[in-house]
Amino acid sequence: MYFMKDKENKKNKENEKNTELIKTIILIILLILIITGATAYYFLNVKDNEEEKDLPFTELISLINENKIEKLEMTTGSATIKVTLKGEEDEKEREKSVLVPSIQAFMEWVQEKVDKEGKEIELIQKPVNVFLRVSDAVFSILPTALLIILLVMIFKMQGLGGDSGKVYGGEDGSKPTGVKFDDIAGLDEEKDELIEIVDFLKKPSAYLEMGAKIPRGILLYGKPGTGKTLIAKAIAGEAGVPFISMSGSEFIEMFAGLGASRVRKLFEKAKKMAPCIIFIDEIDAIGSRRTSNSGSETENNQTLNQLLVEMDGFDTNETVIVLAATNRPEMLDKALLRPGRFDRQITIPSPDLLGRESILKLHSKNKKFAEDVDFKSIAGDTAGFTGAELANVLNEAAILATRNKHKEITNLDIENAVKKITVGLEKTNRVISEKDKKLTAYHEAGHAVVSKFLPTQTDVKEVSIIPRGLAGGYTMYKTNEDKYYVSRTELLEKMVALMGGRAAEKIALNEISTGASNDIEVATGIAKDMLTVYGMDDSLGPVSLKVDDPYELQIFGDKVIDQVGNQIQVLIDNAYITAQKILSENMDILDRVAHTLLEKEKITSEEFEEFFK
Ligand code: ATP
Repeated sequence: MYFMKDKENKKNKENEKNTELIKTIILIILLILIITGATAYYFLNVKDNEEEKDLPFTELISLINENKIEKLEMTTGSATIKVTLKGEEDEKEREKSVLVPSIQAFMEWVQEKVDKEGKEIELIQKPVNVFLRVSDAVFSILPTALLIILLVMIFKMQGLGGDSGKVYGGEDGSKPTGVKFDDIAGLDEEKDELIEIVDFLKKPSAYLEMGAKIPRGILLYGKPGTGKTLIAKAIAGEAGVPFISMSGSEFIEMFAGLGASRVRKLFEKAKKMAPCIIFIDEIDAIGSRRTSNSGSETENNQTLNQLLVEMDGFDTNETVIVLAATNRPEMLDKALLRPGRFDRQITIPSPDLLGRESILKLHSKNKKFAEDVDFKSIAGDTAGFTGAELANVLNEAAILATRNKHKEITNLDIENAVKKITVGLEKTNRVISEKDKKLTAYHEAGHAVVSKFLPTQTDVKEVSIIPRGLAGGYTMYKTNEDKYYVSRTELLEKMVALMGGRAAEKIALNEISTGASNDIEVATGIAKDMLTVYGMDDSLGPVSLKVDDPYELQIFGDKVIDQVGNQIQVLIDNAYITAQKILSENMDILDRVAHTLLEKEKITSEEFEEFFK
């Protein structure tokens, strides 16, 4: 595959999560700003007014004695009096306010001055100003109110409100999962193994009377989209019991410290609903190995400890079965797998040829297909696809068919959907320079021609220089065989095929480009695995250097580590040299394939085979 750009959308998922977090943080910052702003405004304003207008009480007395006061205005219930001075032009200077210690006594004293000494002071008594009162009150409680709102929000986010799992089929009127074993295609052995659990949930007493012990936890291992959630829901659906589901990452959210309490709540809820099923997806988020009690790990450890405590704390007659799913079993803490906890482990594999066909058929039920659609052949072309990916293929095909105004979904729609999912959407409108086109054509021709000379590599299905997704061009291979084991020769030849692109650029155009980045990444990964995981290197022997902790590598010594590094380079170099050799011996074919690609942009498998006749 010729790569135009690297890793552009890898972080999309992460970004979505981060956006939520950023939104919340911005909201909190805004609230804090409003509170501080409002408080500052309130106090500054009041202070300003006070500084400008306030007159000490003693000065007021002197001014009255000196006959310099024109008017005194008091408001019922207020200790402040508005004073108007005689002979001042400036309004600021004319009007002052004075805080009076005892209004009653002061008023009597002024009245006396007016009556007995004949002082000319206008005395005004005003009723309470309701508006001012209210706005005063609002201002004084605003910061407190905002603080309370903020606290409530934080508590809500922390889930103190009691978010402990989504319930299906509980007494709260929620709908049952409604999923049955018939909704799962393939996975027959796995279903057989779980039928027992269904039976147990249906009539727990029969088993208990016989003295049978309740299976506590079942761990489902498998790649994302292989149907783990579906199986868990089907068990609940078949047994007709409530299903409470929660994801491992939901236990540990933005504000730490609540994971353990959420676990406790989840189990409390389940016990009330028993018999029922708890399903914890992505259990590795809380169940990963415990480390030293430091920093953020402590939170994780506490949550895991609580989970262990809850699983141990079931009474023998409590029929709550905990199902958990993970795609990273190696991450899990060993304590989780002990008897009485998740002591049953079931691997959910990616579907094989037959499984894929039956999944496709199952998901085709509510769609219209043209007669030429052959699910068996689609299953053959989708080796390695999970159930979710297959369901997605059919959905994409239906979308493409609608967009292309087809009456039914055609085989071509499905083929295009597969390509869209594997390589990305075709970008026919992208403008590409002639130079880039030539580079891509030779790069893809290189992959295709080289693999033709490698016996273990599958036949070419299609070569294209029309950009798709992030790829500037691609070579697709036929995949019609499910393999459980891959031989050393096959891995070596796969690396040669991957190097075919770069080798063609070098040999035909005497230039190399960034287009080979993904090929190089994949080839290096294969070399690394051959040495460190599969023990396929003659000089190192069948040794696994796959370790959890880099420090463990030290037992092998620096010499072994250096050797791994050297051997990775040797494997890649050899692959690159072999690819160049094949191409230089078949330059004429390489040229012809590349030129045809430049002309037609796409070559089918039949057209490709013609070059070798
Ligand atoms: P994750 O690890 O991402 O949670 P998962 O293994 O739990 O994935 P599900 O959520 O169960 O996968 O599967 C996703 C969808 O894929 C299902 O809703 C279903 O449409 C489809 N699917 C997966 N496997 C099968 C299957 N064996 N039969 C029918 N449909 C399947």
